[in-house]
Parts: sequence; structure tokens; C-alpha cells
Amino acid sequence: MTQRTAVVTGASSGIGEATARQLAADGWNVVLGARRLDRLEALAAEIGGTALALDVTDPASVEAFCDAIPAVSLLVANAGGAFGTTSVAEADDDEWLRMFDVNVMGTVRTVRGLLPKLIASGDGQVVTLGSIAALEPYPGGAGYNAAKHAVKALTRVLRLEMKGQPIRVSEIDPGLVETEFSVVRFEGDQERADKVYEGMTPLVAQDIAEAIAWVASRPSHVNIDSMLIMPRAQVSAQVVHREL
Ligand code: NAP
Repeated sequence: MTQRTAVVTGASSGIGEATARQLAADGWNVVLGARRLDRLEALAAEIGGTALALDVTDPASVEAFCDAIPAVSLLVANAGGAFGTTSVAEADDDEWLRMFDVNVMGTVRTVRGLLPKLIASGDGQVVTLGSIAALEPYPGGAGYNAAKHAVKALTRVLRLEMKGQPIRVSEIDPGLVETEFSVVRFEGDQERADKVYEGMTPLVAQDIAEAIAWVASRPSHVNIDSMLIMPRAQVSAQVVHREL
């Protein structure tokens, strides 16, 4: 049997990196996309995949990325993140626009670019990364909440629009996962990022990677529409049991 290809965006760290590793271990040929090409090349050398530069906020970059991939059966549209925790009253236009660009438009651009090849594979699958923030708004989260709610909406619409096509569409919604996510959100403030996980056991990227690999490995008549995955200590978006 010929090896099937999986594309993972945002594969240079965290959930994307762990997912690329897991999919490669499961026998997929993996194409890795992100801006930090040096990291992708090191990972590709290790797991035997292909590293391609990708900035999902740049339409030309997404187009070149998609053009460079001859065939694909699985897209894990993972690139994304949060910027800041400002209230609605003090909403920062730049933060909001950046969050929409990377999470929403980045996902749309990548899905749109690869959809013809996913359909042509005869058994394609799209997995998007939502969040608990796509389900539960919280104070200080409005920009990220709005962006991830939009990811949920577009994922649901894609599922409806793919009726009758050989395409499965799934959304994974993680709670607290310790990756570079909080360091990025707080602009490199490691101390503030560490506080997010203080006194509790967060998920690790591998927990989500295994879920994505499981979703991808179901028989082709099975569509896992969505999956909310939280640490035991996190009972809702901002209610967390901490042993301090
Ligand atoms: P992370 O460690 O910060 O990884 C984010 C990845 O996205 C990096 O590989 C980054 O690569 C890539 N990325 C960012 N901007 C990009 C762009 N413009 N073009 C291409 N790639 C870009 O965070 P993570 O936790 O693994 O996050 C992965 C996904 O899970 C995100 O969509 C995030 O919103 C979602 N999520 C995370 C959590 C959590 O608690 N960690 C919870 C729920 C959902 P480069 O910087 O090299 O481009």
C-alpha cells in the first residue's frame, strides 16, 4: 500500500510538533508547515517528513505551500494561538486582528488551498484545532473566544458542505495544554505563563496528538465531529483545582 500524506500546520512546537511525531510513528508521510523552518527541518530529519515554510497569515505563502504538496489525505489545521488577555472595554485592534488572521483566516486559507487534493484522495480528512475557548467565553478571553468560536463555525459549515464528498471533518477542543501557547500569549513573559499551570497538572501536547491520531485512524465511515479534552483539574475554562 502506498504511504498516505498528512499535512500538519504549526508543526514547529507544541501540539503540532507532537502530532507530526505521532502521525509519522503511525506510518503517515508527514508534511510540516510553520514559520520557523529551522525547527521544522530538524523535526523532518528526525521523523522522515518534509519541512516547508508556511505563514498562514500570508495568502501567497499558503498558496506556495499548497502548490508544493502533490497529494494529501489528512490536514491537521493546527497553527494558531492567543495574543493578550485584554477586556472588551480595552480591546486592542491589533491583537484581535492578529488572532482572527492566524486562527480563522489561517485555517480557511489552508483548508481552501488543500481541499481539492483532499477530495481527490478519495478518503480525505480535515482536523481543526478549536479550544475550550470555542465553547466557553471567559473574562479577558473575548478576542481569542471570538476567533475560536469562528473556527468552530467554519468547521461545522465545512462538515455540512462536505455532505456526499469523501471527506471527514473533525474539531479537537483542548483545555489547558502546556506548550509555548501561554509564553506567546504573554509576549515572552515566562513567569506569567508558568502561573497558568501553577499547582495543577495540565495536559501535554502528546495527549492531544494521540487524540488526533486516534481520530485520523478511525475507519473511513466514522466521523468524530468534535472532542473536548481537559485536564482532570480543569472543570471549565477558568475553574481549575490548584494545590498550592
Ligand atoms: P504553540 O506551542 O505556541 O504552537 C503554535 C504553532 O503554531 C507553532 O508551531 C507556530 O509556529 C505555529 N504558528 C503560529 N503562527 C503561525 C503562522 N502565522 N503561520 C504558520 N504557523 C504559525 O501552541 P500550541 O498549544 O501547540 O497551539 C496549537 C493550537 O492549539 C493552536 O491553534 C492553539 O490555539 C490551540 N490550542 C492550544 C491550547 C493550549 O492550552 N496550549 C488549548 C486549546 C487550543 P511558528 O511560530 O514557527 O510559525
